[in-house]
Amino acid sequence: MTTTFYAPPEAFRDGWVRLPDDEAHHAVRVLRHRPGDEVIVVDGVGGWHRLRLEQVDRHGVQGRVLETRRDVGEPPYRLTVGLALLKQAARFETFLEKAVELGVAAIVPLLTARTERTHFRPERARRLLIAAMKQCGRSRLPLLHAPRPFAEVLHDPAALRLLCHEQPDRPRHSLHELLRRPVGDALVLVGPEGGFTSDEVLQAEAAGFQTVSLGARRLRAETAALVAASAFLICQDHR
Ligand code: SAH
Repeated sequence: MTTTFYAPPEAFRDGWVRLPDDEAHHAVRVLRHRPGDEVIVVDGVGGWHRLRLEQVDRHGVQGRVLETRRDVGEPPYRLTVGLALLKQAARFETFLEKAVELGVAAIVPLLTARTERTHFRPERARRLLIAAMKQCGRSRLPLLHAPRPFAEVLHDPAALRLLCHEQPDRPRHSLHELLRRPVGDALVLVGPEGGFTSDEVLQAEAAGFQTVSLGARRLRAETAALVAASAFLICQDHR
């Protein structure tokens, strides 16, 4: 299988690309690539490039672009998932990796009334997103926002704006019904371990969000976020 590397757009110039040091190290030391080898390089903004390696040594790895394609591995919709920051960083990081595989375009760590954690480790998260993008064959790196207050995110525009809520006493829409017709861009919000407060649900509905159920069981927050992302994939990313 052809190896995939990541290089940001600025690493490309006049049909050549120079791999970042960490990617070059992997190519030389671990994968033992040689000049003449063909590899794939994705630039994280929808560029997929087939490359012939010309320089492969301890001074760096450079190659010539043979072929470029756009949006390889990307879904036809743009899904943003707002997930409350979780107490256990590992759970949030697991969500990040799976969200890449499921085609999520952007992730907004939410600060809600019941979130106890207020930050995550951005550098570690970025490395994790890049590794998942390469592994699953995407060409876009999901945008990972800095943590944002729930009330502010309610004003973000999107064609479809959903709030996942497990309270049976709410008017709820079926995600399946809502995803029967093509969606351009969507924003789906998922609460923390303690859930959204009833006030937050009312605020979201007042801002035009539709509450959706993800079934009769209480899912962990990261599970709920992945179920919602999977619903979009199953309903709208069939190739
Ligand atoms: N409020 C519950 C658990 C919250 S689960 C409690 O008090 O224990 C964390 C988040 O996952 C919720 O805020 C909701 O956004 C989502 N979620 C979990 N199960 C869900 C379900 N069956 N339907 C819709 N959303 C769900």
